[in-house]
Amino acid sequence: MNLSLAHGYTSQSQVAKILTENWLASESYCPSCLSLLSQAKANSRVLDFVCSNCTNQFELKSKKGIFGQKISDGAYSAMIDRLTDSNSPHFFFLNYSADFKVRNLIAVPSYFLQPSLIERRKPLSDNAIRAGWVGCNIIISQIPEAGKVSMIDEYQIAKTSKVQKIWAKTAFIASEKNSESRGWMLDIIRCIERLKADSFSLKKMYEFESELSLNHPNNHHVKDKIRQQLQFLRDKGYIDFVRPGLYKLSGD
Ligand SMILES: [Zn+2]
Repeated sequence: MNLSLAHGYTSQSQVAKILTENWLASESYCPSCLSLLSQAKANSRVLDFVCSNCTNQFELKSKKGIFGQKISDGAYSAMIDRLTDSNSPHFFFLNYSADFKVRNLIAVPSYFLQPSLIERRKPLSDNAIRAGWVGCNIIISQIPEAGKVSMIDEYQIAKTSKVQKIWAKTAFIASEKNSESRGWMLDIIRCIERLKADSFSLKKMYEFESELSLNHPNNHHVKDKIRQQLQFLRDKGYIDFVRPGLYKLSGD
């Protein structure tokens, strides 16, 4: 990062904000189309960056050291509103070292952030300046792996072509506007990941039936839904059918 930009600032959080934002705008790129990003106007409420080509919007969250299970973010209600808005920004999660080197950079498409991954924090106490204000945490540990597009991993820079390919692989989720349908897609993707195998059977997927019933109490045909979702993921090129009842993750 360009440390000279930190001159004149004493607050550590301010220094980190200036350096990480500058780094992202000058060194990083849009994972969807590989164009450069520009910093959005300072007065814009939430989004930090916009792609100069495809107008994708991004918000940057950064941290010294690595992220734990959750990341704190702004107001809970504003966050939930944004996730239901088709224009909601995607996220960059950035980790840096004590000497301001970028250790990890992950891009997460907005459509992976289901409201169930946003945790409501306790309201600020009565003696706080913003008493009653309710913030939120993003539970990053529950974002499916397919939605964590690694651009830098332990100081190693990923190939841009690979980043773009991984991003594109799940872009079909964005076109599903119905939150219940989107929830199903993400749940099935998460179940497939939990099997930790390149190929898997329908029978194995049916083992998630009772768990999925809890997430979707109004659906009384969960097995049918699992099968239908697997067909849908096949049509979108996310998985392949090997033979009846056997699937595999589609290759690179
Ligand atoms: Zn772009």
